Amino acid sequence: MRLVFLGAPGAGKGTQAKRLEAEKGWPVVATGDLLRAAIAQNTPLGQQAQAYIQRGELVPDALVNQIVAERISQLESFILDGYPRNLAQAQMLESILTKPLDAVIFFEIQEEALIERLSGRRICPECNAVYHIKNNPSKAGDQCDQCGATLVTREDDQPDAIRRRFQVYREQTEPLVAYYRERGLLRTINADAPPDEVYQQLLSVL
Ligand code: ADP
Ligand code: AMP
Repeated sequence: MRLVFLGAPGAGKGTQAKRLEAEKGWPVVATGDLLRAAIAQNTPLGQQAQAYIQRGELVPDALVNQIVAERISQLESFILDGYPRNLAQAQMLESILTKPLDAVIFFEIQEEALIERLSGRRICPECNAVYHIKNNPSKAGDQCDQCGATLVTREDDQPDAIRRRFQVYREQTEPLVAYYRERGLLRTINADAPPDEVYQQLLSVL
C-alpha cells in the first residue's frame, strides 16, 4: 500500500500513521521526524533545515525531495506523512514513483480545533511517539511509554511558528487537496473526532 497523509499541522497525521504502521507493517516516512533527527544529530542536512523549521517555514524542496527519494526507493509499501507539502513536491513524487499511489488521505479539520492540539503536543525525541498533555498523556509523566526518553515540546509548537505554519499550509499545501481530487486519489476523513474513531474511518476508506 502506498499512501500519502495530507492535512493541516496538528490534524493527527503522525498519530494515525504510526498506529497504521504498527498494525499493518507499512513503514511511515515522516519528513518532519527525519528532519528533527538530522537536527538532533547536527548533520549537514540538520544544519541547513533548522532555521526554516524553527520559523515554521518549509525546508527547501531539494533537501526534502532527496530524503524522500532515498527512503521510498527501497519500499514496496509506505505511508508518507508530511510530504508532499507543495505542488513542486507532488510533481517530484510522481516522477520518482515506480508504481502509482493507492490513495491520498485528507485529514479534514477546522483550524480552530488545532491550536489546542499543537500547544499541548509532546513528542519523544528518541522514537518519535506523539502525546498530548490532556488528550493522550504519557502514563509515566514526562517520559515516553515506549522507550523511556524524556518528552519534549517541539520548537515549532510555539504561537508564532504555529501561526506561520497555518499560513504556509493554506498557501502551499492546501492546493494539493484539489490536485489529488482531480486525479481521483483523494479520500477525505473527518479528523475532528477521537483518535479511535479517526482510525476506524481510515480503515474503512482503505
Ligand atoms: P500531525 O502529525 O498532523 O501534525 P499529530 O498526530 O502530531 O498531528 O497530533 C497533534 C496533537 O494532537 C498531538 O498532541 C496528538 O496527541 C493530538 N491528537 C492526535 N489525534 C487526535 C485526535 N483525534 N483528537 C485529539 N487529539 C489528537
Ligand atoms: P511536521 O513534523 O510534518 O509538522 O514538519 C515539521 C517541519 O518540518 C515543517 O514545518 C517544515 O519546516 C519541515 N518539513 C517537514 N516536511 C516538509 C516538507 N515536505 N517540505 C518542506 N518542509 C518540511
